Amino acid sequence: MTAWTDARVTDALDAEDARLDRLRDDAERGRTGIAMLRARRELDGVRERAAGTAEMIERAALRDDVATLAQAQIVIREQREQIRRLEATIETMRSASNIDAVTGCLDRAGFEKTLEREWNRAMRGRTEVGLLFVDVDKFKEVNDKFGHQAGDEALRAIAKALEGEAKRSGEAVARYGGDEFVIVVPHADLAGALGFAERVRGAVSKLRLRVGEESVGLTVSVGAASVMPSIKVKRDELVRRADSAVYRAKDAGRNRAIALGVEEGLDVFFAPEAPVQRTAVEKPEAARSTTRGR
Ligand code: GH3
Ligand code: MG
Repeated sequence: MTAWTDARVTDALDAEDARLDRLRDDAERGRTGIAMLRARRELDGVRERAAGTAEMIERAALRDDVATLAQAQIVIREQREQIRRLEATIETMRSASNIDAVTGCLDRAGFEKTLEREWNRAMRGRTEVGLLFVDVDKFKEVNDKFGHQAGDEALRAIAKALEGEAKRSGEAVARYGGDEFVIVVPHADLAGALGFAERVRGAVSKLRLRVGEESVGLTVSVGAASVMPSIKVKRDELVRRADSAVYRAKDAGRNRAIALGVEEGLDVFFAPEAPVQRTAVEKPEAARSTTRGR
C-alpha cells in the first residue's frame, strides 16, 4: 500500500469514526431529551394536583373540616416530596447531558467538550475548525421592556433559529452564557465561517417575538474565526479570535457578522460584503478585505 493510499484510508476511517461519535452523541441527547420531557410532564401533573390539594386545604380550613384538613395535609406533603424528587431528577439529567436549562441547546460544559473533541479530530485530520460567537443585540432592553420571561422566550427562539442553521453533522450550538451563543463549525475555513455567520445573522433578523399585542424584532452580532489546530495554535486562540470579532461587530453597529483572521501576526477583520477567499489567510496581500484590524 502506498503512503498516499494509507493517508486516504486513515482519513476515511477518521471521518467514519467522527460520524459514529456524532450519531452516538445525538442518540444519547435524544434519549435524555425524551426522558426529560416525560419527567417534566409528570412534574407539571403533580404541580397541578398539588395546587388542587392546596385549594382543598383552604376550603377545609374555612369550614373547620378537621378530618379533610388532616387528610389533605398528608396528601400535599407527599405531592411536595414528589415535586422535589422530580425537580432533582430533571436537574441531574440536564446537567449530565450538558443541556442548557433555558434554551435546550448544549450548555457551556457541553461546548467545551464538543470543541475539544472537534479540535483533536481536526488536529489528527489536519483540517480547520471554525467557531462563531453570537451575541444578542441590546438584549437588556428586551428584558427591561418586556420582562425576564419574554427575554427567556427570545433566547429560546434564537437558539432554535441557530440550530436550524447548524444542521450539518458535527455542527453544534451551545449557550456560552447569558445572551451569548457559540457554534462549532468543523472543517470551516475563514470564508466558510464568515458565510455561516452571515446566514445565522440573517436567520435571527427574520424572527418576530410575540409579546402580548406586540411583535418584537431581534438581531444578533456574530464573530467568526477559523484556525488550523497545531502545536503553536491552541483552542484558546480560536475562542479569542471569535470573541474579538463579535466585539468588533458590536462596535461596527450591531446586527452584523465579522470574521477575524491573523496575517503576519496581525489581527485582520473581514466583513461579508467583501468575501474572503480560502487563500486569504495564506496569501494576505492578494485578498485583504475591507475592514482593517487593530
Ligand atoms: P449588547 O448589544 O452590547 O450585547 O447589549 P446587551 O443589552 O445585549 O448586553 P448586556 O451584556 O448589557 O446585557 C445582557 C443581558 O442579558 C443582561 C441580562 O439581564 C440578560 N440575561 C442574561 N442571562 C439571561 C437569561 O437567562 N434570561 C434572560 N431573560 N435574560 C438574561
Ligand atoms: Mg448582548
